[in-house]
Amino acid sequence: MKFICPNIIFIVFLLSTATITSSQSESSETNIISRFQQFLKIKTDHPTPNYKQSSDFLISQAKSLSLQSQTIEHVPGKPLVLLKWTGTSPELPAIMLYSHTDVVPAEHDKWDHPPFDAHLDSEGRIYARGSQDMKCVGMQYLEAVRKLKQWGFQPKRTIYLAFAPDEEIGGHDGAEKFSLSRVFQDLNVGIVLDEGLASPDDYYRAFYAERSPWWLKIKAVGIPGHGAKLYDNSAMENLLKSIEIIRRYRASQFDLIKAGLKADGEVISINMAFLKAGTPSPTGFVMNLQPSEAEAGFDIRVPPTADTESLERRIAEEWAPTWRNMSFTLGQFKQKVSGCDASGKPVVTKTDSSNPWWALLENAVQEAGGKLGKPEIFPASTDARYFRNLGLPAIGFSPMANTPILLHDHNEYLHKDEYLKGIKIYESIIKAYASYDEHVNDERSKDEL
Ligand SMILES: [Zn+2]
Repeated sequence: MKFICPNIIFIVFLLSTATITSSQSESSETNIISRFQQFLKIKTDHPTPNYKQSSDFLISQAKSLSLQSQTIEHVPGKPLVLLKWTGTSPELPAIMLYSHTDVVPAEHDKWDHPPFDAHLDSEGRIYARGSQDMKCVGMQYLEAVRKLKQWGFQPKRTIYLAFAPDEEIGGHDGAEKFSLSRVFQDLNVGIVLDEGLASPDDYYRAFYAERSPWWLKIKAVGIPGHGAKLYDNSAMENLLKSIEIIRRYRASQFDLIKAGLKADGEVISINMAFLKAGTPSPTGFVMNLQPSEAEAGFDIRVPPTADTESLERRIAEEWAPTWRNMSFTLGQFKQKVSGCDASGKPVVTKTDSSNPWWALLENAVQEAGGKLGKPEIFPASTDARYFRNLGLPAIGFSPMANTPILLHDHNEYLHKDEYLKGIKIYESIIKAYASYDEHVNDERSKDEL
Protein backbone atom coordinates (compact mmCIF):
# COMPACT_ATOMS: atom_id res chain seq x y z
CA MET A 1 0.00 0.00 0.00
CA LYS A 2 3.09 2.16 0.34
CA PHE A 3 3.03 3.23 -3.27
CA ILE A 4 -0.48 4.69 -3.12
CA CYS A 5 -0.36 8.44 -2.68
CA PRO A 6 -2.36 9.92 0.22
CA ASN A 7 -4.83 11.59 -2.14
CA ILE A 8 -5.90 8.28 -3.60
CA ILE A 9 -6.32 6.79 -0.15
CA PHE A 10 -8.47 9.76 0.75
CA ILE A 11 -10.62 9.30 -2.33
CA VAL A 12 -11.00 5.59 -1.59
CA PHE A 13 -11.89 6.48 1.98
CA LEU A 14 -14.45 9.02 0.82
CA LEU A 15 -15.96 6.55 -1.63
CA SER A 16 -16.26 3.79 0.92
CA THR A 17 -17.78 6.20 3.44
CA ALA A 18 -20.28 7.21 0.78
CA THR A 19 -21.11 3.55 0.06
CA ILE A 20 -21.61 2.78 3.74
CA THR A 21 -23.77 5.87 4.21
CA SER A 22 -25.91 5.07 1.19
CA SER A 23 -26.33 1.42 2.19
CA GLN A 24 -27.12 2.50 5.73
CA SER A 25 -29.82 4.82 4.48
CA GLU A 26 -31.08 2.10 2.10
CA SER A 27 -31.51 -0.18 5.07
CA SER A 28 -32.99 2.40 7.41
CA GLU A 29 -36.35 1.39 8.83
CA THR A 30 -38.07 4.28 7.09
CA ASN A 31 -36.80 3.16 3.70
CA ILE A 32 -37.63 -0.49 4.32
CA ILE A 33 -41.19 0.43 5.23
CA SER A 34 -41.47 2.86 2.36
CA ARG A 35 -40.46 0.17 -0.17
CA PHE A 36 -43.11 -2.14 1.32
CA GLN A 37 -45.68 0.64 0.99
CA GLN A 38 -44.71 1.24 -2.65
CA PHE A 39 -45.36 -2.40 -3.48
CA LEU A 40 -48.65 -2.40 -1.57
CA LYS A 41 -49.86 0.64 -3.48
CA ILE A 42 -49.68 -1.20 -6.81
CA LYS A 43 -53.20 -2.31 -7.64
CA THR A 44 -52.80 -6.00 -8.33
CA ASP A 45 -56.35 -6.85 -7.31
CA HIS A 46 -58.55 -9.09 -9.43
CA PRO A 47 -60.18 -8.98 -11.89
CA THR A 48 -57.67 -6.57 -13.51
CA PRO A 49 -54.37 -6.83 -11.65
CA ASN A 50 -51.72 -4.35 -12.81
CA TYR A 51 -49.00 -6.96 -13.30
CA LYS A 52 -46.98 -4.63 -15.53
CA GLN A 53 -46.45 -2.13 -12.74
CA SER A 54 -45.64 -4.78 -10.15
CA SER A 55 -43.15 -6.48 -12.50
CA ASP A 56 -41.44 -3.15 -13.23
CA PHE A 57 -41.18 -2.44 -9.53
CA LEU A 58 -39.73 -5.87 -8.74
CA ILE A 59 -37.20 -5.67 -11.55
CA SER A 60 -36.05 -2.27 -10.34
CA GLN A 61 -35.59 -3.79 -6.87
CA ALA A 62 -33.60 -6.63 -8.42
CA LYS A 63 -31.33 -4.14 -10.17
CA SER A 64 -30.66 -2.27 -6.95
CA LEU A 65 -29.63 -5.59 -5.40
CA SER A 66 -27.58 -6.79 -8.40
CA LEU A 67 -29.79 -9.84 -8.81
CA GLN A 68 -30.32 -11.34 -12.24
CA SER A 69 -33.91 -11.07 -13.37
CA GLN A 70 -36.19 -12.50 -16.02
CA THR A 71 -39.87 -12.25 -16.75
CA ILE A 72 -41.66 -15.40 -17.83
CA GLU A 73 -45.12 -15.23 -19.40
CA HIS A 74 -46.75 -18.61 -19.83
CA VAL A 75 -49.88 -16.66 -20.71
CA PRO A 76 -49.51 -13.20 -22.25
CA GLY A 77 -50.11 -10.44 -19.70
CA LYS A 78 -49.50 -12.74 -16.74
CA PRO A 79 -45.83 -12.31 -15.90
CA LEU A 80 -43.88 -14.30 -13.36
CA VAL A 81 -40.80 -12.40 -12.24
CA LEU A 82 -37.86 -14.67 -11.45
CA LEU A 83 -34.79 -13.30 -9.67
CA LYS A 84 -31.55 -15.15 -9.15
CA TRP A 85 -28.68 -14.93 -6.69
CA THR A 86 -26.10 -17.41 -7.89
CA GLY A 87 -24.48 -19.56 -5.24
CA THR A 88 -20.85 -20.58 -5.01
CA SER A 89 -21.88 -24.25 -5.43
CA PRO A 90 -24.51 -23.92 -8.15
CA GLU A 91 -24.55 -27.70 -8.65
CA LEU A 92 -26.41 -28.05 -5.34
CA PRO A 93 -30.24 -27.97 -5.60
CA ALA A 94 -31.48 -24.38 -5.31
CA ILE A 95 -33.68 -22.59 -2.80
CA MET A 96 -36.90 -21.11 -4.12
CA LEU A 97 -38.44 -18.20 -2.22
CA TYR A 98 -41.90 -18.10 -3.72
CA SER A 99 -44.70 -15.53 -3.47
CA HIS A 100 -47.67 -14.33 -5.49
CA THR A 101 -48.19 -10.73 -6.52
CA ASP A 102 -51.96 -10.72 -7.02
CA VAL A 103 -54.44 -9.90 -4.29
CA VAL A 104 -58.18 -10.39 -3.84
CA PRO A 105 -60.47 -7.40 -4.45
CA ALA A 106 -61.45 -5.11 -1.57
CA GLU A 107 -64.75 -3.43 -0.74
CA HIS A 108 -63.28 0.04 -0.47
CA ASP A 109 -66.16 1.58 1.50
CA LYS A 110 -65.82 -1.03 4.28
CA TRP A 111 -62.20 -0.08 5.03
CA ASP A 112 -61.05 2.52 7.57
CA HIS A 113 -58.20 3.47 5.23
CA PRO A 114 -58.24 2.99 1.44
CA PRO A 115 -56.94 -0.53 0.64
CA PHE A 116 -54.30 0.69 -1.82
CA ASP A 117 -52.98 3.67 0.15
CA ALA A 118 -50.75 1.55 2.42
CA HIS A 119 -51.59 3.95 5.24
CA LEU A 120 -49.31 3.74 8.26
CA ASP A 121 -51.33 4.72 11.35
CA SER A 122 -50.00 6.23 14.57
CA GLU A 123 -49.92 2.76 16.17
CA GLY A 124 -47.58 1.45 13.46
CA ARG A 125 -50.12 -0.60 11.51
CA ILE A 126 -49.84 -0.65 7.73
CA TYR A 127 -53.27 -1.02 6.17
CA ALA A 128 -53.44 -2.50 2.68
CA ARG A 129 -54.85 -5.33 0.64
CA GLY A 130 -51.93 -7.73 0.38
CA SER A 131 -50.22 -6.58 3.58
CA GLN A 132 -50.68 -10.15 4.91
CA ASP A 133 -51.50 -12.06 1.73
CA MET A 134 -48.74 -11.93 0.60
CA LYS A 135 -46.86 -8.88 -0.58
CA CYS A 136 -45.28 -8.76 2.88
CA VAL A 137 -43.46 -12.04 2.28
CA GLY A 138 -42.29 -11.10 -1.22
CA MET A 139 -40.78 -7.86 0.04
CA GLN A 140 -39.34 -9.50 3.18
CA TYR A 141 -37.42 -11.93 0.96
CA LEU A 142 -35.96 -8.96 -0.94
CA GLU A 143 -35.10 -7.03 2.22
CA ALA A 144 -33.45 -10.08 3.75
CA VAL A 145 -31.37 -10.52 0.60
CA ARG A 146 -30.42 -6.83 0.78
CA LYS A 147 -29.18 -7.26 4.37
CA LEU A 148 -27.28 -10.44 3.60
CA LYS A 149 -25.59 -8.79 0.63
CA GLN A 150 -24.62 -5.79 2.74
CA TRP A 151 -22.91 -8.12 5.19
CA GLY A 152 -21.04 -9.79 2.38
CA PHE A 153 -22.81 -13.14 2.76
CA GLN A 154 -22.11 -15.62 -0.05
CA PRO A 155 -24.75 -18.30 -0.58
CA LYS A 156 -23.51 -21.77 -1.45
CA ARG A 157 -26.81 -22.75 -3.02
CA THR A 158 -28.36 -20.59 -5.70
CA ILE A 159 -31.36 -18.64 -4.45
CA TYR A 160 -34.36 -17.92 -6.66
CA LEU A 161 -37.09 -15.44 -5.82
CA ALA A 162 -40.30 -16.08 -7.76
CA PHE A 163 -43.14 -13.55 -7.89
CA ALA A 164 -46.09 -15.28 -9.55
CA PRO A 165 -49.46 -14.12 -10.87
CA ASP A 166 -52.97 -15.49 -10.39
CA GLU A 167 -52.68 -17.46 -7.15
CA GLU A 168 -55.97 -16.00 -5.98
CA ILE A 169 -57.79 -17.43 -8.99
CA GLY A 170 -56.32 -20.91 -8.80
CA GLY A 171 -52.75 -20.40 -10.05
CA HIS A 172 -53.39 -22.24 -13.33
CA ASP A 173 -51.68 -19.58 -15.48
CA GLY A 174 -49.06 -18.92 -12.82
CA ALA A 175 -47.64 -21.58 -10.51
CA GLU A 176 -49.21 -24.54 -12.29
CA LYS A 177 -47.73 -23.80 -15.71
CA PHE A 178 -44.46 -22.62 -14.16
CA SER A 179 -44.06 -25.79 -12.06
CA LEU A 180 -44.56 -27.95 -15.16
CA SER A 181 -42.26 -25.88 -17.38
CA ARG A 182 -38.83 -26.70 -18.70
CA VAL A 183 -37.59 -23.45 -17.16
CA PHE A 184 -38.56 -24.65 -13.71
CA GLN A 185 -37.08 -28.08 -14.26
CA ASP A 186 -33.76 -26.50 -15.22
CA LEU A 187 -33.63 -24.48 -12.01
CA ASN A 188 -33.02 -27.71 -10.05
CA VAL A 189 -34.99 -26.53 -7.04
CA GLY A 190 -34.56 -28.47 -3.80
CA ILE A 191 -36.93 -26.64 -1.46
CA VAL A 192 -39.78 -24.16 -1.90
CA LEU A 193 -40.92 -21.65 0.68
CA ASP A 194 -44.45 -20.29 0.11
CA GLU A 195 -47.12 -18.52 2.11
CA GLY A 196 -48.51 -19.37 5.54
CA LEU A 197 -50.88 -17.53 7.84
CA ALA A 198 -50.65 -14.89 10.55
CA SER A 199 -50.67 -16.10 14.11
CA PRO A 200 -52.63 -14.36 16.89
CA ASP A 201 -50.12 -15.52 19.54
CA ASP A 202 -46.33 -15.36 19.55
CA TYR A 203 -45.73 -18.67 17.76
CA TYR A 204 -45.11 -18.48 14.02
CA ARG A 205 -47.05 -21.00 12.00
CA ALA A 206 -45.61 -23.36 9.38
CA PHE A 207 -47.58 -25.58 7.01
CA TYR A 208 -46.55 -28.90 5.47
CA ALA A 209 -49.67 -29.79 3.48
CA GLU A 210 -53.05 -28.39 2.59
CA ARG A 211 -56.64 -29.46 2.29
CA SER A 212 -58.14 -30.22 -1.10
CA PRO A 213 -61.38 -28.59 -2.16
CA TRP A 214 -64.25 -30.91 -3.09
CA TRP A 215 -67.16 -29.05 -4.61
CA LEU A 216 -70.27 -31.11 -4.09
CA LYS A 217 -73.69 -30.52 -5.65
CA ILE A 218 -76.59 -32.65 -4.52
CA LYS A 219 -79.95 -32.75 -6.24
CA ALA A 220 -83.29 -34.15 -5.17
CA VAL A 221 -86.24 -34.86 -7.42
CA GLY A 222 -89.78 -35.75 -6.38
CA ILE A 223 -93.41 -35.63 -7.35
CA PRO A 224 -94.66 -32.04 -7.57
CA GLY A 225 -97.84 -31.29 -5.68
CA HIS A 226 -100.23 -28.79 -4.16
CA GLY A 227 -98.71 -26.63 -1.48
CA ALA A 228 -101.49 -27.63 0.91
CA LYS A 229 -100.90 -31.38 0.73
CA LEU A 230 -98.71 -33.40 3.09
CA TYR A 231 -96.98 -36.28 1.35
CA ASP A 232 -93.65 -38.08 1.43
CA ASN A 233 -90.75 -37.93 -0.98
CA SER A 234 -91.12 -34.41 -2.30
CA ALA A 235 -87.88 -32.94 -3.66
CA MET A 236 -87.76 -30.30 -0.93
CA GLU A 237 -88.28 -32.86 1.86
CA ASN A 238 -85.60 -35.14 0.46
CA LEU A 239 -83.10 -32.32 0.07
CA LEU A 240 -83.82 -31.00 3.56
CA LYS A 241 -83.20 -34.45 5.08
CA SER A 242 -79.79 -34.45 3.44
CA ILE A 243 -79.04 -30.93 4.58
CA GLU A 244 -79.88 -31.94 8.16
CA ILE A 245 -77.52 -34.92 7.96
CA ILE A 246 -74.74 -32.81 6.43
CA ARG A 247 -75.20 -30.13 9.09
CA ARG A 248 -74.86 -32.73 11.85
CA TYR A 249 -71.62 -33.91 10.26
CA ARG A 250 -70.41 -30.32 9.98
CA ALA A 251 -71.15 -29.75 13.67
CA SER A 252 -69.27 -32.94 14.66
CA GLN A 253 -66.17 -31.70 12.81
CA PHE A 254 -66.48 -28.19 14.20
CA ASP A 255 -66.79 -29.62 17.74
CA LEU A 256 -63.34 -31.18 17.36
CA ILE A 257 -61.90 -27.72 16.71
CA LYS A 258 -63.91 -26.09 19.50
CA ALA A 259 -62.73 -28.75 21.95
CA GLY A 260 -59.13 -28.04 20.93
CA LEU A 261 -58.68 -31.63 19.71
CA LYS A 262 -57.93 -30.67 16.13
CA ALA A 263 -56.64 -27.65 14.24
CA ASP A 264 -58.58 -25.99 11.42
CA GLY A 265 -56.65 -27.81 8.72
CA GLU A 266 -57.12 -31.25 10.30
CA VAL A 267 -60.88 -31.59 9.99
CA ILE A 268 -63.19 -31.97 7.01
CA SER A 269 -64.94 -28.63 6.77
CA ILE A 270 -68.20 -28.25 4.91
CA ASN A 271 -70.16 -25.11 4.15
CA MET A 272 -73.26 -24.62 2.05
CA ALA A 273 -72.48 -22.46 -0.97
CA PHE A 274 -75.91 -22.33 -2.58
CA LEU A 275 -79.50 -23.48 -2.32
CA LYS A 276 -81.56 -23.61 -5.48
CA ALA A 277 -85.22 -24.48 -5.30
CA GLY A 278 -88.69 -23.13 -5.93
CA THR A 279 -90.78 -22.33 -8.99
CA PRO A 280 -90.19 -18.75 -10.09
CA SER A 281 -93.13 -16.39 -10.68
CA PRO A 282 -93.10 -12.79 -11.97
CA THR A 283 -93.19 -11.51 -8.37
CA GLY A 284 -90.88 -14.06 -6.75
CA PHE A 285 -91.89 -17.69 -6.27
CA VAL A 286 -95.07 -19.69 -6.71
CA MET A 287 -96.24 -20.27 -3.16
CA ASN A 288 -98.86 -23.01 -3.50
CA LEU A 289 -96.66 -25.48 -5.32
CA GLN A 290 -94.18 -28.05 -4.05
CA PRO A 291 -91.45 -28.11 -6.74
CA SER A 292 -90.19 -31.26 -8.43
CA GLU A 293 -86.49 -30.38 -8.11
CA ALA A 294 -84.23 -28.92 -5.46
CA GLU A 295 -80.48 -28.55 -5.37
CA ALA A 296 -77.74 -27.49 -2.94
CA GLY A 297 -74.00 -26.92 -3.28
CA PHE A 298 -71.27 -27.39 -0.68
CA ASP A 299 -67.65 -26.36 -0.42
CA ILE A 300 -65.90 -29.24 1.32
CA ARG A 301 -62.23 -29.09 2.34
CA VAL A 302 -60.51 -32.40 2.88
CA PRO A 303 -57.18 -32.81 4.71
CA PRO A 304 -54.64 -35.20 3.18
CA THR A 305 -54.96 -37.36 6.29
CA ALA A 306 -58.69 -38.02 5.74
CA ASP A 307 -60.11 -41.35 4.61
CA THR A 308 -61.44 -40.16 1.27
CA GLU A 309 -63.04 -43.47 0.32
CA SER A 310 -65.21 -43.39 3.40
CA LEU A 311 -66.14 -39.78 2.68
CA GLU A 312 -67.19 -40.69 -0.86
CA ARG A 313 -69.24 -43.57 0.54
CA ARG A 314 -70.87 -41.23 3.02
CA ILE A 315 -71.85 -38.86 0.22
CA ALA A 316 -73.32 -41.65 -1.89
CA GLU A 317 -75.08 -43.50 0.91
CA GLU A 318 -76.15 -40.78 3.35
CA TRP A 319 -75.96 -37.34 1.76
CA ALA A 320 -77.37 -38.08 -1.68
CA PRO A 321 -78.74 -41.64 -1.68
CA THR A 322 -80.52 -42.84 -4.77
CA TRP A 323 -83.25 -44.38 -2.59
CA ARG A 324 -84.21 -40.83 -1.60
CA ASN A 325 -84.34 -39.87 -5.31
CA MET A 326 -81.09 -38.02 -5.05
CA SER A 327 -77.99 -37.65 -7.18
CA PHE A 328 -74.72 -35.80 -6.77
CA THR A 329 -71.79 -34.41 -8.69
CA LEU A 330 -68.34 -33.72 -7.35
CA GLY A 331 -67.48 -30.72 -9.48
CA GLN A 332 -63.88 -29.78 -10.17
CA PHE A 333 -63.07 -33.44 -9.87
CA LYS A 334 -59.54 -32.60 -10.88
CA GLN A 335 -59.25 -30.29 -7.88
CA LYS A 336 -60.49 -33.16 -5.73
CA VAL A 337 -57.50 -35.33 -6.50
CA SER A 338 -54.90 -32.55 -6.59
CA GLY A 339 -53.90 -33.33 -3.01
CA CYS A 340 -52.60 -36.72 -4.11
CA ASP A 341 -49.62 -37.90 -6.13
CA ALA A 342 -49.75 -40.29 -9.09
CA SER A 343 -49.94 -43.30 -6.81
CA GLY A 344 -52.86 -41.78 -4.90
CA LYS A 345 -50.80 -40.98 -1.79
CA PRO A 346 -51.57 -37.61 -0.15
CA VAL A 347 -49.00 -34.96 -1.00
CA VAL A 348 -47.36 -33.78 2.18
CA THR A 349 -43.96 -32.39 3.08
CA LYS A 350 -42.28 -34.41 5.82
CA THR A 351 -41.70 -32.69 9.13
CA ASP A 352 -39.49 -35.33 10.73
CA SER A 353 -35.74 -35.89 10.63
CA SER A 354 -35.96 -37.27 7.07
CA ASN A 355 -36.52 -33.72 5.83
CA PRO A 356 -33.51 -31.56 6.75
CA TRP A 357 -35.26 -28.41 5.51
CA TRP A 358 -37.79 -28.61 8.31
CA ALA A 359 -35.18 -28.82 11.06
CA LEU A 360 -33.17 -26.03 9.41
CA LEU A 361 -36.25 -23.81 9.39
CA GLU A 362 -37.02 -24.53 13.05
CA ASN A 363 -33.45 -23.73 14.11
CA ALA A 364 -33.21 -20.64 11.95
CA VAL A 365 -36.44 -19.20 13.36
CA GLN A 366 -35.22 -19.92 16.89
CA GLU A 367 -31.83 -18.36 16.25
CA ALA A 368 -33.53 -15.18 15.09
CA GLY A 369 -35.45 -15.04 18.37
CA GLY A 370 -38.74 -16.46 17.06
CA LYS A 371 -40.84 -19.43 18.15
CA LEU A 372 -42.37 -21.94 15.75
CA GLY A 373 -45.65 -23.72 16.54
CA LYS A 374 -46.30 -27.34 15.65
CA PRO A 375 -46.54 -28.12 11.92
CA GLU A 376 -50.00 -27.58 10.48
CA ILE A 377 -52.13 -28.38 7.47
CA PHE A 378 -53.12 -25.23 5.58
CA PRO A 379 -56.93 -24.96 5.73
CA ALA A 380 -57.33 -23.63 2.16
CA SER A 381 -55.33 -23.91 -1.08
CA THR A 382 -52.01 -22.30 -1.96
CA ASP A 383 -49.63 -22.55 -4.91
CA ALA A 384 -47.41 -24.80 -2.78
CA ARG A 385 -49.52 -27.77 -3.90
CA TYR A 386 -48.14 -27.54 -7.44
CA PHE A 387 -44.60 -27.95 -6.15
CA ARG A 388 -45.53 -30.70 -3.69
CA ASN A 389 -47.22 -32.51 -6.58
CA LEU A 390 -43.79 -32.69 -8.23
CA GLY A 391 -42.41 -34.39 -5.16
CA LEU A 392 -40.62 -31.31 -3.90
CA PRO A 393 -40.70 -30.26 -0.25
CA ALA A 394 -42.66 -27.01 0.15
CA ILE A 395 -43.22 -25.20 3.42
CA GLY A 396 -45.90 -22.55 3.92
CA PHE A 397 -44.57 -19.82 6.17
CA SER A 398 -45.43 -16.13 6.61
CA PRO A 399 -43.66 -14.68 9.64
CA MET A 400 -46.47 -12.71 11.30
CA ALA A 401 -46.85 -13.38 15.03
CA ASN A 402 -49.19 -11.49 17.36
CA THR A 403 -51.28 -10.54 14.36
CA PRO A 404 -54.97 -11.19 13.72
CA ILE A 405 -55.68 -13.29 10.61
CA LEU A 406 -57.02 -10.72 8.16
CA LEU A 407 -56.30 -12.19 4.76
CA HIS A 408 -59.17 -11.47 2.35
CA ASP A 409 -60.83 -9.44 5.13
CA HIS A 410 -61.65 -5.74 5.42
CA ASN A 411 -58.89 -3.63 7.01
CA GLU A 412 -56.13 -6.15 6.33
CA TYR A 413 -53.02 -4.81 8.07
CA LEU A 414 -49.59 -5.75 9.32
CA HIS A 415 -47.75 -3.96 12.10
CA LYS A 416 -44.46 -2.49 10.94
CA ASP A 417 -42.54 -4.06 13.83
CA GLU A 418 -43.82 -7.53 12.87
CA TYR A 419 -42.83 -6.84 9.28
CA LEU A 420 -39.32 -5.82 10.34
CA LYS A 421 -39.00 -8.84 12.65
CA GLY A 422 -40.03 -11.04 9.73
CA ILE A 423 -37.10 -9.75 7.69
CA LYS A 424 -34.69 -10.86 10.43
CA ILE A 425 -36.37 -14.27 10.47
CA TYR A 426 -35.84 -14.62 6.70
CA GLU A 427 -32.21 -13.47 6.98
CA SER A 428 -31.68 -16.37 9.35
CA ILE A 429 -33.60 -18.89 7.21
CA ILE A 430 -31.94 -17.89 3.93
CA LYS A 431 -28.53 -18.01 5.57
CA ALA A 432 -29.20 -21.50 6.94
CA TYR A 433 -30.76 -22.84 3.73
CA ALA A 434 -28.20 -21.36 1.36
CA SER A 435 -25.29 -22.59 3.49
CA TYR A 436 -26.60 -26.16 3.80
CA ASP A 437 -24.33 -28.20 1.61
CA GLU A 438 -25.32 -31.82 2.19
CA HIS A 439 -26.05 -33.25 -1.20
CA VAL A 440 -27.31 -36.71 -0.36
CA ASN A 441 -30.18 -35.55 1.80
CA ASP A 442 -31.65 -33.56 -1.06
CA GLU A 443 -32.16 -36.67 -3.09
CA ARG A 444 -33.33 -38.68 -0.14
CA SER A 445 -35.95 -36.16 0.95
CA LYS A 446 -37.10 -35.76 -2.65
CA ASP A 447 -37.60 -39.51 -3.04
CA GLU A 448 -39.51 -39.83 0.16
CA LEU A 449 -41.85 -36.95 -0.49
ZN1 LIG B 1 -51.99 -15.81 -0.69
